Amino acid sequence: VAGSPSARTRVRRLPARAAYDRETICAILDEAPVAHLGFVSGGQPIVIPTLQARVGGTIYIHGSAASRAVRTLAGGAPACLTVTILDGLVLARSVFHHSVNYRSVVVLGNASIVGGAGERAHALEAFVERLVPRRWSEARPPSAKELKATSVMRMTLDECSAKVRTGGPVDDEADRALDVWAGVIPLRMVAGTPVADDYVDRHARPPESVRDWISRRR
Ligand SMILES: Cc1cc2nc3c(=O)[nH]c(=O)nc-3n(C[C@H](O)[C@H](O)[C@H](O)COP(=O)(O)OP(=O)(O)OC[C@H]3O[C@@H](n4cnc5c(N)ncnc54)[C@H](O)[C@@H]3O)c2cc1C
Repeated sequence: VAGSPSARTRVRRLPARAAYDRETICAILDEAPVAHLGFVSGGQPIVIPTLQARVGGTIYIHGSAASRAVRTLAGGAPACLTVTILDGLVLARSVFHHSVNYRSVVVLGNASIVGGAGERAHALEAFVERLVPRRWSEARPPSAKELKATSVMRMTLDECSAKVRTGGPVDDEADRALDVWAGVIPLRMVAGTPVADDYVDRHARPPESVRDWISRRR
């Protein structure tokens, strides 16, 4: 992970909110499994939501070998991968200063296809483990047919940036006396009660992996 911005990843507006260090960038990526993957296809910018899993300085993305994203990126097209975590709604006294608290990461580069069987298996395991730790060993491993239908791609964290907004509204001084409520509504992702499917024994408890995951997000 680059520790300083390139000319392309330097945040221009409110640069004090930017971060380029590995710790900040990896923590955001690891908390947000959903990424938006941008690329140009036939002259048209396309942004596709997709799962991502970071392992070291590499981000893995996967998809059907037939998908447009895979076909375009495998051809060497430049890509931009973004993740966003919404941490709160920031309500100011003026409409102008309304904002949101967030943590986001932007990664620029080219995706490349992961060809080696060892790295592919490692990446697929990372996807499942990033969703729910210990799930890989609970579920059936992929068959040869399933592996063949799945393309795995990697992007490296060489050119990337984070941006983080925290804190309350930044009202104009003259507005502070207005009789308008101002502050933050914090937001976070919480887990609901798991719903077993029809083929689970109705007396069975969810596995410990699931119970642990939920208890961390209540
Ligand atoms: C949930 C959310 C809501 C936002 N709402 C608004 C809004 O309503 N209006 C608004 O103007 N801005 C908003 N932003 C900020 C926005 O993402 C950009 O930071 C902003 O447009 C300023 O970009 P720039 O011109 O400085 O940089 P640009 O020239 O657009 O980008 C230069 C480089 O800076 C880096 N960069 C820029 N933004 C981010 C980012 N958010 N995270 C990580 N790296 C970044 C990238 O590497 C990019 O290549 C929001 C951000 C988030 C996460």
